[in-house]
Amino acid sequence: MYEFAVTPAVNQIRRRGVEISEVADGSLGSELELEPGDRILRVNGRTVRDYLDFRFQASGETELVINVRKHTGEDWELNVERDEAEEFGLSFEQIVPRQCANECIFCFCKGNPETARPSLFVRDEDVRLSFLYGNYTTLTSITDDEMRRVIEQRLSPQYVSVHATDLDVRAYLLGVDKKRADITAKMQQLLDAGIEIHAQVVLCPNINDGEILRRTIYDLAELHPRVRSVAIVPLGLTRYLNDERLTPVTPDFCRRTIREVSSIQRDLRARLGTTFAFLGDEIYLRADHRVPGGKHYGNYPQIEDGIGMVRSFANQFDALTRRLERKARAVARPTGVPKRAARLGWSIGRALFGTIMTGTLFAPVLRKKVEELNARFGTRLHVIAVENEYFGGDVSVAGLLTGGDLLAARKDVVGDFAIVPRVALKSDEPVMLDGMRFEDLQDRFDIPLYAFDFAGFAQMLAHVPQQTQASVRIRAIPAFA
Ligand code: SF4
Repeated sequence: MYEFAVTPAVNQIRRRGVEISEVADGSLGSELELEPGDRILRVNGRTVRDYLDFRFQASGETELVINVRKHTGEDWELNVERDEAEEFGLSFEQIVPRQCANECIFCFCKGNPETARPSLFVRDEDVRLSFLYGNYTTLTSITDDEMRRVIEQRLSPQYVSVHATDLDVRAYLLGVDKKRADITAKMQQLLDAGIEIHAQVVLCPNINDGEILRRTIYDLAELHPRVRSVAIVPLGLTRYLNDERLTPVTPDFCRRTIREVSSIQRDLRARLGTTFAFLGDEIYLRADHRVPGGKHYGNYPQIEDGIGMVRSFANQFDALTRRLERKARAVARPTGVPKRAARLGWSIGRALFGTIMTGTLFAPVLRKKVEELNARFGTRLHVIAVENEYFGGDVSVAGLLTGGDLLAARKDVVGDFAIVPRVALKSDEPVMLDGMRFEDLQDRFDIPLYAFDFAGFAQMLAHVPQQTQASVRIRAIPAFA
């Protein structure tokens, strides 16, 4: 039986096997008469605990014995023959995350208002979610069973919050004893088994900065290339997280950190051929420092952790502008009308008059790019920086904006439409962190409101030149592009 690291995050009785949530029409699963609500208990005699187990135990097998508990209560044993590449066409219930046993002094769960979405209070510490979604774990309470599973099922890479290699400091930050804080042997076991690790440091002024940070980076660099990278992200304080042991991150602190880490990065690039230790974008923005170029980030190993997002955005924006200009030239050529780019600009400009809402941190970056776009194409796009009143403190990223914050900024919106950052919505449901549903927010605006990521925004711009009635086209783009 699979042990919980500590306790299940959700209070529910854990049932055996994994539940099927969907069966694709015409698939092998439907041929086997599997249905939503059925639970797969075993594959070839091996216990199935979740969909990762099913995937692992069924993969590459052409002859399988599958034990199923039907939703009607019957038990079936299915003898299955299939081609190696034949998919079952099954979707499964979500993984219930295991919880951590730490008491980190900077824990984001302590920074939530009481009214926040319940999922924001889940202290997940789960090697499966680390593998699947890049969630960080501390490895402090990982069980032997979980370690075996990571290795056997090749759940690589793993994302590990190291914070400091100095044990006293790590224990202090995590609120655990030194024995539990020491993950040296566990990391080594994973690395020896070929599991790759991306590490993270939540940088807390006066605790794990300066010399402690320097040692942490160099200790981890000793384990390169199997430790692939280190993300250094700043402590975030909300108005609810006011532990007196924590010192706020200031622009001066960010500037000093950039100076100190830049010299380490230069040294590591010369020795390892990679920057290896990356500072979070927030550190550059708060220091009012130019973000590094694309080469600095290589293949952007920690982009999900906010490392290199600004550079990636700027590059994508520039590429989009070039595409639009090419399109303008292509329009101009067949008709022979000189300066057709200007006409294209007029066409976009006439249609695109609206507002893009984002967090205060990213707003200056976005505004600069949008102003360039306006100057080239005649668009009239405005960027407004939305204050985060919900969390307060130094929270300024777009992803933590709430429905209430966006509503409060409505008075500054101009034009025919407004765009909010897609990242402020749950990935699988149109709901924001304060529980407001996106359609309710849309109802409170008297112009169309869209939730776009960069791709959605690019799609909107790219479609305008193909239409004479551009605004009609824009309205047809789904909110969740
Ligand atoms: S590991 Fe620390 S920061 Fe993460 S959920 Fe647990 S207590 Fe919070």
